[in-house]
Amino acid sequence: MGKTDLGPPDYRTMLPKVIEKNYGKWKYHEILKPGVLKHVSETGDEVFTVRVGSPRLVSIDYIRDICDVADKYCDGHLRFTSRYNIELMTPKKENVEPIIAAVQKLGLPVGGTGNAISNVVHTQGWVHCHSAATDSSGLVKAIMDELYPYFISMKLPARLRVALACCINMCGAVHCSDIAIVGVHTKPPKVDNSKVTALCEIPTTLSSCPTGAIRKDPSNPKSLVVNDEKCMYCGNCYTVCPAMPLADSVGDGVAIYVGGKVSNARTAPMFSRLAIPYIPNNPPRWPEVVSAIKNIVEVYAKHAHPEERMGEWIERVGWESFFKLTGIPFTEYHIDDFTHAIDTYRTTTQFRW
Ligand code: SF4
Ligand code: SF4
Repeated sequence: MGKTDLGPPDYRTMLPKVIEKNYGKWKYHEILKPGVLKHVSETGDEVFTVRVGSPRLVSIDYIRDICDVADKYCDGHLRFTSRYNIELMTPKKENVEPIIAAVQKLGLPVGGTGNAISNVVHTQGWVHCHSAATDSSGLVKAIMDELYPYFISMKLPARLRVALACCINMCGAVHCSDIAIVGVHTKPPKVDNSKVTALCEIPTTLSSCPTGAIRKDPSNPKSLVVNDEKCMYCGNCYTVCPAMPLADSVGDGVAIYVGGKVSNARTAPMFSRLAIPYIPNNPPRWPEVVSAIKNIVEVYAKHAHPEERMGEWIERVGWESFFKLTGIPFTEYHIDDFTHAIDTYRTTTQFRW
């Protein structure tokens, strides 16, 4: 293939030799222990994978350390999964334990395979994004410090995927994860009219609002006003007009959704649904969010059948039972009042307690 400056480089040029040789020929795989996979090819070749938890925002030194392990034991190859697990692959079984020892020496956990909580997929947070309603890296670190035993073991009923998006733009896979944390604003944007004409195109800003809450100020055509009653704190206006920030140290927090999945196994993919409408931010360790998530994980682990994903368990026992078992109060905020909400309503009289 000719050289091009468009798009990512061709992945086939970066495959480990054993993967290239056996491409499309893998017969089966097994999990030897938490964090260690073995794939066997039709040709008889084997490849061993050590899966390692990783933060999402990493330093150059961190990447160099990981690359040193890959150079030493994996012929210079490593890969990141879509949830930022690092996978170190080798055809040599004798390399598996030294790889585990090397990454553990760097302070990284080995696990995330099978019926475990894999690495948490998350977004930018306060570190980088302009519209974040919560942090990502800090909150995920606090959550995973508590859920660590579920990363290094495979004792859950099924796979449990956790995701975090720091605003409702939802750059993370929150709609299709077993547990999802979503940053939410609860206050309207604060318009800085001294910057509006310099930073914003007024017609675009007016049309960006899904509820029509933004108007030109009749007394000053170069200014904007927000009708607080109509605002749903979505942040769309801020994306096109940086003079309308929403971030608020008191009004920002998270909502927690449950029951999504991408997998087609046994049941069709599912969207996650609202479990907890709002928990205020409480950095640096977010104890209320962490304990709410731990509670959901533990109730699920206790009540789900083997191989039953979070959403499948909730569908089986009924959402009424989910709220009862977890002790999460059902409030008016759980009821969808969007114009087209009828599509999401349960239209049967069958309730399960
Ligand atoms: S989810 Fe929202 S705040 Fe977070 S990175 Fe995406 S756009 Fe930015
Ligand atoms: S936050 Fe959303 S609803 Fe509120 S004014 Fe901006 S675009 Fe409109």
